[in-house]
Amino acid sequence: MNRLRKFSDATDRPVFKRPQIIRLSRLLDMEYKPSEIAEELNIGLWVIYNTYLHAGCPHRREKGGQIWIHGTSFAAWARAINELNKEKAFTLQEDEAWCVRCNAVVKMEDAHRRTLKRNLVMVYGVCSVCGGKVNRLASGKVKK
Ligand SMILES: [Zn+2]
Repeated sequence: MNRLRKFSDATDRPVFKRPQIIRLSRLLDMEYKPSEIAEELNIGLWVIYNTYLHAGCPHRREKGGQIWIHGTSFAAWARAINELNKEKAFTLQEDEAWCVRCNAVVKMEDAHRRTLKRNLVMVYGVCSVCGGKVNRLASGKVKK
């Protein structure tokens, strides 16, 4: 698990979309070729090479260059990254939010705060990129 720590400040940390997270449960306790992982997760093979391997996903490289990815290890790694990404959503700037349509951090327009409970504030706004509604939780304390 220590190997994940180095991603905490990575800006190019992979993002796993919800359908991929759900598909992680298909991966078994066996080794897969990158193309097989791509097929199981319904993603492009280039995502594995350019993003996941680049970001340090657990894998084994044979002498001949063949790469093997262990299914359940990969799934655990992906879920951990996903959790880190969620944490990141809570350290957004005051005028930022996660837009599910853009699948990215976006600037929020027309932001307004509504207190749900003591110390629990919801910020509602509009995505500056696609115009969709976005919201996020904010701490009741005003951050600097
Ligand atoms: Zn958007």
